This record gives sequence, C-alpha cells and structure tokens, in this order.
Amino acid sequence: MAFELKILGSNSAAFAHNRNHTSQFLRVQNTYFLIDCGEGTQLLLKKNKVKLSKINNIVISHLHGDHYYGLIGLLSTLHLFGRKTKLRLFGPPGLKEIISIQLKYSTTTLSYDIEFTEWIPGESQEIYEDQHITVTTFPLNHRIPCSGFLFREKPKKRRINKRLVTKILTPLQINELKNKRDVYDMSGKLLYEWKTATLPPYSSHAYAFCSDTKYIPELSELLNNVNLIYHEATFTEDMSERAALTYHSTAKQAAELAKNANVGKLILGHFSTRFKDLNPILEEARTVFENSELAIEGAVFNT
Ligand SMILES: [Zn+2]
Ligand SMILES: [Zn+2]
Repeated sequence: MAFELKILGSNSAAFAHNRNHTSQFLRVQNTYFLIDCGEGTQLLLKKNKVKLSKINNIVISHLHGDHYYGLIGLLSTLHLFGRKTKLRLFGPPGLKEIISIQLKYSTTTLSYDIEFTEWIPGESQEIYEDQHITVTTFPLNHRIPCSGFLFREKPKKRRINKRLVTKILTPLQINELKNKRDVYDMSGKLLYEWKTATLPPYSSHAYAFCSDTKYIPELSELLNNVNLIYHEATFTEDMSERAALTYHSTAKQAAELAKNANVGKLILGHFSTRFKDLNPILEEARTVFENSELAIEGAVFNT
C-alpha cells in the first residue's frame, strides 16, 4: 500500500448537510501531508483519530476561506501542545503575511519553526522531495491563484528474487544487485548476476489533488495514468453556466478529465450546499467514468 488518503471535509462555501470544508490527510509511506485546512479541520482530525504530531507538512491550494480558515487554529493548538518539530507549510503568496499578522496581534511566538514555501502562481514547480516522493504544483483556473498538487512516488529499485538468491549477502551486495550491478566474492568469482537475481520493481504510485477550478482539459496530459485523482465537482451539468461563471467544474467535466487522463480512480468533492443528496453528482460522473466515488467524510482511499 503506497498511498492512504483520508477525507476529512469535502463541502464548498458553507457548512451544510453535516458536511465540512475541504481538508484531506494523506500518508505516503512514512510521510504525512495535510491538504487544505478549512475551518473545523482540527475537530475533523480528532474525529478521524489523526495524531497532531503526524502533521509535518501542510499544503494549501488557495486563499478562499473554505480551504484555509482552520489553519491559524491548528497552528495555535500545535503551539499550545508544546510542539518542537519543524512544520513545513506550502501555500500561495500572502499566506505567510496572514499568519504572521495573526500571530503578531496575539503576541504569540510559536514553540516550533515554520518552514514556509511559497508556490508560484501560474507555474508548475517541485515544492517537496525526499527519498521516496516528490510533490509538484500545477496551476488551476480559479478566481484567485489556485494550485493543484501531484504527489508522486519516485521509481523504485528492483527486488531481490529470494527463490534464486540463497547465499547470504551483505547489505552492500544486496544494494548492488538492486542497482543493476553484478556481485562477486572476495576472490572475484561471480556470485550473482543482477539480471537473474532480481525482479522488476513495484510500480510507483501517484495521487493528484485538483482543488477549485474550471475544467482544464489539458490537465489530462500532466495527470496521465495517476492512480488516484481528486477533482472538485461543485455542480452538475444543468448548472454548467454557473460553474463557468464561478470558476468551478461539473461532475461530468471532472469525469471527462479522469477518463482522458486514464486514471485509476476519481474522487469527487467540493459539493455545492444546494446538494443535500449527492447521488446526482455521482451518477453524472459515472456515466462518463465508471470508477468514480464521492469524497464522503471519513472515507479512506488506498492505492
Ligand atoms: Zn472552495
Ligand atoms: Zn475557491
């Protein structure tokens, strides 16, 4: 299991029908990301039994309140709990200033450091990299600067074929084989050829978070073959004019993107408050892309 995505909140604009503002919690191996932080995210983290100490990275898609009004509350709580570990915060221009002013006027000096990375509106850039994954932004088309995030595992190493490799090897020798190099014993005699001693690597997975946006058909190229994609579906097709006017998408448009990008699974979210029943959104998407699901709060998606 490479990715585990937990939906915390998935409604647009206002709280309605027991649905909350956008927030998701993503685990990629041992790295964790909070994606957007609408009002009430702290409570949703608690409800979903997510330990606050696990939050080391927060990415914010844009500065509409339903995507970040929970941030200052969460940052303050981490401070009250005496957090010492550095927190990485990735957000649009302006966010650092907003947080600084809020802290300044409450005369708060946080107990931990925030490493703030400002992503550049209108550009695609790699904002995070570690041993296993990269996170890349991509521009969306919304009323204010808004970014999507592509979480992608790096290519994995080849695997040792344990049925064939029966001699005891050192960690260095194992690493050599995984890196496509043959290994020899002390006298220079060939022990194993990497070609026969290893198996192809497991495939690398990817998750794309497409926050508030008008439909961008061209995204299908960038997001080609990702395993899991979240895309806003604020409206259904009968409200397509309103969707265009407010720089949002319909369920059908989200599904078109998923289909054209040949993704594994589509998760629909950012529901308009006018939908008490979300089935019309799901049904509309499934007519275009069968493997569509709703971002129901508390739902977990694995790749
Ligand atoms: Zn929104
Ligand atoms: Zn928005």
